[in-house]
Amino acid sequence: MEAPKTLIEAVQYFSDAENCRQFMIAVRWADGIVKCPICQSEKVTYLEKAKVYRCYGKHPKQKFSLKVGTVFEDSPIGLEKWLPASWLLSNCKNGISSYELSKAIGVTQKSAWFMLHRIRLAMKEDHGDLTLGGHWQNPVEVDETFIGGKAVNKHLGERRQKERKTIVMGMLDRESRQIRAKVIPNVKRETLQAEILSHIGFNAYVFTDGHVGYDKLSEYKNFTHKTVNHINEYVNGRVHTQGIENFWSLLKRGLNGTYVAVEPFHMDSYVDEQVFRYNNRKGKTDAQRFTKLLSQVAGKRLTYAEVTGKVGGAEAF
Ligand SMILES: [Zn+2]
Repeated sequence: MEAPKTLIEAVQYFSDAENCRQFMIAVRWADGIVKCPICQSEKVTYLEKAKVYRCYGKHPKQKFSLKVGTVFEDSPIGLEKWLPASWLLSNCKNGISSYELSKAIGVTQKSAWFMLHRIRLAMKEDHGDLTLGGHWQNPVEVDETFIGGKAVNKHLGERRQKERKTIVMGMLDRESRQIRAKVIPNVKRETLQAEILSHIGFNAYVFTDGHVGYDKLSEYKNFTHKTVNHINEYVNGRVHTQGIENFWSLLKRGLNGTYVAVEPFHMDSYVDEQVFRYNNRKGKTDAQRFTKLLSQVAGKRLTYAEVTGKVGGAEAF
């Protein structure tokens, strides 16, 4: 059977354990050779009956599945469910709720909720030292938005509602159409500008609204800073922030329609999810988006205690 192109094909294809195995090898090791997660040795054999590998190195945990060393590690749920779940989250425009996922693949809602959080961890992009905009004077739109707070606690006054809102900051490189976004603690000048300095390269054109927190940006990194005043002009030639604002509406649609009440503690992972789909939406098929996601599952882990905030706090994300 050929590699799947649709969700239905993916469900059929990954119902076969051998297909799951071949697929995991292909996305995890460029040379196609399975390596022991403990000692990196290539001297391993596949035990077909138990569907695990065995390393000949002298160390504990000689037997391992291909889930070890990925976000799927230690999960009793098989790849025949993990892979279609990953397909769904990488391709459903507004995301998928734990309720919908539990019905779709036949796991409890609690398991589905945990699965979605693990998949979102894989969606989180690692930029390394790469900056946006720089060197070619590309425009980068920068903006921040307030999310949540409504309908969570109707009896709280307007002021308390505001306190429950989460602030998300985003930057869009208009040439590459790539977005970066994250939760920030406040909109103070030092917070906003520290983010801009670490994510945007020299010589970039930085477009923001007139928020005082963006004042004097042109003093740094040879930036050209242009602002658009939202009170009486929405678009000032090419100086505007409509791209990042479109992303905010996508993000809010997913959060309001699919996920309803998101705890501020989990907001970053929902932002990562939406950023992944946004950055991979153009020029990629569903299968390519799914494969991209699976290429990011290795080297990351998320335990249930971390996702429920019982250890490590927000740092765990
Ligand atoms: Zn080993």
